[in-house]
Amino acid sequence: MACQETDDLCHADPRGALMIIKGQATVVKHTGSHYLLSCLPEWDMFPAVLRGKIRLKGSTATNPVAVGDVVNFEAEVPEGVAAQELTAYVTPENAAVITSVEPRRNYIIRKSTNLSRQSHIIAANLDRAFIIATIDFPEIKLPFLDRLLVTCEVYNVPPTIVLNKVDLYRESHKEMIEAFHEIYEGAGYTVLEVSALTGEGIDELREACRGHVSLFSGVSGVGKSSLIKALDPSLEPKVGEISDVHLQGKHTTTFYEMYSLTSGGFIVDTPGLRGFGLVDLKKEEIALYFPEMLKAAQGCRFTPCTHTHEPGCAVKEAVEAGEISYDRYSSYLGMLDEEGKYR
Ligand code: GDP
Ligand code: ZN
Repeated sequence: MACQETDDLCHADPRGALMIIKGQATVVKHTGSHYLLSCLPEWDMFPAVLRGKIRLKGSTATNPVAVGDVVNFEAEVPEGVAAQELTAYVTPENAAVITSVEPRRNYIIRKSTNLSRQSHIIAANLDRAFIIATIDFPEIKLPFLDRLLVTCEVYNVPPTIVLNKVDLYRESHKEMIEAFHEIYEGAGYTVLEVSALTGEGIDELREACRGHVSLFSGVSGVGKSSLIKALDPSLEPKVGEISDVHLQGKHTTTFYEMYSLTSGGFIVDTPGLRGFGLVDLKKEEIALYFPEMLKAAQGCRFTPCTHTHEPGCAVKEAVEAGEISYDRYSSYLGMLDEEGKYR
């Protein structure tokens, strides 16, 4: 197509004269040293590699570029090719080159559980996190859910809680579901009830995903892959290829991927959630990330207040009055206790 106006040149060199196109795109897949870029909201993926070392100031992350990053790239294409036609010419053999990364709005990291203190950026520039949970199958662990919520708050990614598999326990766990809504809606979160199996609540979840880049997170087995497939059956063959097992090996390539929903919006799946949910927080910081405690803490007599033994603590008063859920408070105490263990 680029050859139309430069016919002679093309006969001499099938690729014609080359030129460099510069542009900006989003990273939609990261596999070791290879990336796929796309100019969102289109889904026109093309391969890219990093040029030299891109280091971000102050970052100890093993990957300088992550899924969701907006990057500047250069690509070599035949003269006359328009930017929209890039994908036809940028192939793995002639990949685009990532030259720099735009500042991130937010990002989430996965800490290595060994002592190296290395971290891996899972995804950047997320609009929302859907924390997938089940009351049963597998049985919910509220402290872990609270830890995930705190992590989202720390990373500045607003979380929505999705209770999946309600087909399995709606009848048997009626009261627990009710209590769950009370605890988490009381803390200021939205709770959606869905079933990837029956399709219940899926339209609502699809609506919530439209127009955003969303993280899907939650422990293994809660139905993250099933939900993504329910949201968009055309993703079926791709979803769930990456398993926990892949991520645990020392030298295996860690990769993350963004999915494009036909209905609009993008999802980043986080298989192998080990290490996510571990954030370094000082004791006095933890309560800042429990939104309902942060609000109540304005009334505490002392600042800082750990909301444990201090007289005139408005948080403890709110717990006693039933305005703050005892379960949430108890997760908070657990985190205070464990503080420092992950360093
Ligand atoms: P992931 O590890 O979070 O990606 O979970 P999967 O999507 O692999 O689901 C784990 C298991 O739960 C699979 O056997 C699914 O078929 C099952 N599952 C997922 N969603 C539902 C649901 O809404 N209802 C029921 N009954 N089973 C589900
Ligand atoms: Zn207090």
